Amino acid sequence: MKTIDYNNYARHYPDSEGYFGKYGGKYLPGDLQEAFLEAEAAYQTISKTEKFISELAKIQKEFQGRPTPLYHCARLSDLLGNRLQIYLKREDLNHTGAHKLNHCMGEGLLAKYMGKKRLIAETGAGQHGVAVATAAAYFGLDCEIHMGEIDIVKQAPNVAKMKILGAKVIPVTFGGKTLKEAVDSAFESYLKNHHDSLYCIGSAVGPHPFPMMVRDFQAVIGREAREQFIERLGRLPDTITACVGGGSNSIGLFFSFLADPVKIVGIEPLGSGPKKGEHAATLTYGRPGILHGFKSIVLQDDSDLAAPVHSIASGLDYPSVGPEHAFLKEVGRVEYDTVNDQAALEAFFFLSRTEGIIPALESAHALAYAIRRARNSNHHETILVNLSGRGDKDVDYIIEKYGTEYKIKR
Ligand SMILES: *Cc1c(COP(=O)(O)O)cnc(C)c1O
Repeated sequence: MKTIDYNNYARHYPDSEGYFGKYGGKYLPGDLQEAFLEAEAAYQTISKTEKFISELAKIQKEFQGRPTPLYHCARLSDLLGNRLQIYLKREDLNHTGAHKLNHCMGEGLLAKYMGKKRLIAETGAGQHGVAVATAAAYFGLDCEIHMGEIDIVKQAPNVAKMKILGAKVIPVTFGGKTLKEAVDSAFESYLKNHHDSLYCIGSAVGPHPFPMMVRDFQAVIGREAREQFIERLGRLPDTITACVGGGSNSIGLFFSFLADPVKIVGIEPLGSGPKKGEHAATLTYGRPGILHGFKSIVLQDDSDLAAPVHSIASGLDYPSVGPEHAFLKEVGRVEYDTVNDQAALEAFFFLSRTEGIIPALESAHALAYAIRRARNSNHHETILVNLSGRGDKDVDYIIEKYGTEYKIKR
């Protein structure tokens, strides 16, 4: 296997065609190629300028509330035996309550510099739609969010937020009427409108340049966390971890640590079990394939179609994963493990009760991995968990389904 120089990693991955090893690229009809090429050219020039970089830094500080804190879970670590010390990177304190705004503000600023007047995006559970609508409002851009009719009914509070923020929510009425069709619908609109619009993807997925662009904008997480951890403890964490849906909060944390002697673990949702349709653990159970215009690992049924997926965390149920994760797994730099619905639920309540922080169910997956490690640890070590978002959005669902008296085992 080719050895990778992680000190110069960013220069070679992705390559000029958008590949991380054999994953990534741009699989699109000819007329749509052009729109993505324009976005790539703009990104490669505009986003590297002093002016863009300093304006984005100012936005992160004054609008988003960055840097987000690094927090030591002293009570939780103590209750788990005090060998593994758990630290959180508090992306839940980022404006709008999750990491997604990190790349949406970057993409919005790029759209402004490109002279575009509209942001176009798809959304599933609505979290990405709210982040894009927020960015559009900030930059004074029009905003068009494509959303499956079924999701519109299920995610009424997020639909209301998008509308309050001034976005136009476009119901997608064909096929399964959920995320997959919403992507098709948003691509179609981008094709028609790319002269005055920029597409704004929801994770480190999609055709080149989006996996790279989203990674670069999300990398602020790991950059800050690495510095904060060293400043606080005088050394690096032993392990870092984050949940993996499409892979944006995780690659955002991992990127700055790739060259370090740090164990890196991505956590996939095992849902209610390992059978097809019960989970969304793409890297664990999937195989190479092409979905939504890029090559990666895809959860497929026997006829090579994207398989149905499930997770208690709606932000994690995607049947593919960012191409960079497929690559980092293949070369062995990042390990991928799984956490099921039950363990994520337990972590959700455990953190809420012991630390006063209600985590998003997505983030609870990464935390559940840390809790499992803490219970089995027999020496002193540290773990840094990316708390990608806050759990306010999950409270109604949890109360309805599980009540508030959840019993935690020790
Ligand atoms: C959307 C979301 C995720 C999953 O997306 P990634 O691209 O894998 O990071 C994780 N956590 C929260 C809070 C989310 O809203």
